[in-house]
Amino acid sequence: MEKDMEQINNLKEKPLICIREVNENINRVKLDMPLTRPLRELNQSCGFRKEWEKRFDMTHFKCPFCNKFVEKKGFCSEECKAKNKEYNQRPEVKAKNKEYRQRPEVKAKKKEYYQEYYQRPEVKAKKKEYYQEYYQEYYQRPEVKAKNKEYRQRPEVKAKKKEYYQENKEKILKKLRHKTKTLRQEGSGQQGN
Ligand SMILES: [Zn+2]
Repeated sequence: MEKDMEQINNLKEKPLICIREVNENINRVKLDMPLTRPLRELNQSCGFRKEWEKRFDMTHFKCPFCNKFVEKKGFCSEECKAKNKEYNQRPEVKAKNKEYRQRPEVKAKKKEYYQEYYQRPEVKAKKKEYYQEYYQEYYQRPEVKAKNKEYRQRPEVKAKKKEYYQENKEKILKKLRHKTKTLRQEGSGQQGN
């Protein structure tokens, strides 16, 4: 209901013809075609720039090779992808890119960015999920299972394990008791709810 009212108000504020014209011109920009009217006029009468920014704030991407607008991040075509690859493999371009990456200020900026990036909760969560899935799959592989089993059964590994257990008996038992206690507490906590 509120959303409907919002839409009606929007229509009142902006003549329908403007919405059509804005849509038409957004498509024209995407297709690299000339606008229906000069950009300045469009901005003044229909708030074209505002509408453009609103719509493309999160979703607009450009092909890194030809700068054409694309729906998804990446190249607009296989052709651009191939051309870009060819370009980046030229010795002079490679040397230039390498020189750029090795500049101290570029390195520092990159480091700073990744430090911040990996601290983001959503990135941390995703990374954790990825590794969990990966290891779950990894330890299920027959060759990995066989390798681990073979390793555990080696006499020297068995002996070392036994030795470790005897030396750390108290510590291990304490840990186990603590774990059982926490599990029991968690269990009773759930029952209480
Ligand atoms: Zn392209």
